[in-house]
Amino acid sequence: MNADVLLARCERSANLYGLRIEERSDAWYTTWAFALDQRRAGREKYGNAVINALLRLDEGFPGCPHCEAGSFVKCGICARLTCWDGGARVWRCRWSPCRYSGVPSGQIESFHQHADV
Ligand SMILES: [Zn+2]
Ligand SMILES: [Zn+2]
Repeated sequence: MNADVLLARCERSANLYGLRIEERSDAWYTTWAFALDQRRAGREKYGNAVINALLRLDEGFPGCPHCEAGSFVKCGICARLTCWDGGARVWRCRWSPCRYSGVPSGQIESFHQHADV
């Protein structure tokens, strides 16, 4: 089975976390999330993975380990991930120096549906 870890940041605290993903027949699924510090992320070489496929949330996905937001958004500018609770409000990218903000749309909506399970 192909599996990897992506890096994400918490929208509320900007703290780093890891997203474990695995490949299944129809898409890549996010199965687990865990708090992570910058040193360990570097040591494990996390963050080098590039997934050019649909990313879905597994039903058991625990959400952001810092604020429990059930989903995450891929930034339209820097392409990095920041957690997202799915609320009707503006989302902010927490990767410096990007700081892009906007209302999530597009493929992210399928994330929301899965996050609601
Ligand atoms: Zn969070
Ligand atoms: Zn960004």
